Amino acid sequence: MSGEPQADCLFCRIVAGEIPATVVRETGTTLAFRDIAPQAPTHVLVVPKAHYPDAAALAGADPALAGALLAEAGRVAEDEKVAESAGGAGYRLIFNTGAGAGQTVFHAHVHVLGGGHGLREKL
Ligand code: 5GP
Repeated sequence: MSGEPQADCLFCRIVAGEIPATVVRETGTTLAFRDIAPQAPTHVLVVPKAHYPDAAALAGADPALAGALLAEAGRVAEDEKVAESAGGAGYRLIFNTGAGAGQTVFHAHVHVLGGGHGLREKL
């Protein structure tokens, strides 16, 4: 069934507590934890606890959960003080979607990236 945990999914295993992670925020439906290989001073991943292979699949199946994920990403940016409203310089939200675009973990997630000089570069 859509959204069910997958035994071979790394982020399902982090959500289940089987693999340790540095959790920064948790709700009933989402988990936010630090990326193991940070690409910026703040690099947090926000995932739905339910399994969807990518952000588009998540949004198609459960738009409310996709919205909750984005709201949590904003709260992470506030907590990490990278949001302008928290005195930071702003931040990026990135959804790599598809292996050709750099997605390596096929459980929907948004990268919250902030605090680095490279963030000034335009996409
Ligand atoms: P993607 O490339 O799929 O958009 O992002 C996957 C992210 O997961 C990468 O930035 C990678 O560093 C991170 N990652 C991979 N394995 C682990 C892990 O075991 N723990 C944590 N916290 N992050 C991981």
